[in-house]
Amino acid sequence: MNALVLVNLQNAYPAGTEQDLVAVQGSYPDILMEREAALALSRLMAQIDGWRFIAPVSGWRSQAEQQSIWDQSLRDHGLEFTRQFVALPGHSEHQTGLAIDLGLRAKEIDFIRPNFPYDGICQTFRELAPAYGFIERYPKGKEAVTGIAHEPWHFRYVGIPHAEKMTRRGLTLEEYLA
Ligand SMILES: [Zn+2]
Repeated sequence: MNALVLVNLQNAYPAGTEQDLVAVQGSYPDILMEREAALALSRLMAQIDGWRFIAPVSGWRSQAEQQSIWDQSLRDHGLEFTRQFVALPGHSEHQTGLAIDLGLRAKEIDFIRPNFPYDGICQTFRELAPAYGFIERYPKGKEAVTGIAHEPWHFRYVGIPHAEKMTRRGLTLEEYLA
């Protein structure tokens, strides 16, 4: 596992990469991440009793799953929306097993755009995330760099100390690697 692997519009996820995927939380056996990332997420959630208020919405995706999400979004929302919020199949960070979408618990959680506000428990999570190796991957104002719209709910495991360095310097993964 390379925690700094860059997957975006220009960089596809290398096919055939070996993965060690585990469930992020016992009640969600289908939501998987790379073992190291899942463990870091568990520790962070334990510290803030986060799973009581926050649900995991989407973790690892196969290329086939990304394709079906893309197709469905295209049918439901059209091309413009889909390009902004759904990565092209082969180019989704979710295929790495290092990304997780999180949503504030509610009766209905939007699968593509879950609610993860900048206050309360979600903000507490966000502020502690870098110490556990996670960054908010698609911040506001960096759309031109990441190629993805602002996504407050999408977190990416990059490991320690990279997450703290990136957050402190206000750098996206693209900028940090450059
Ligand atoms: Zn995501």
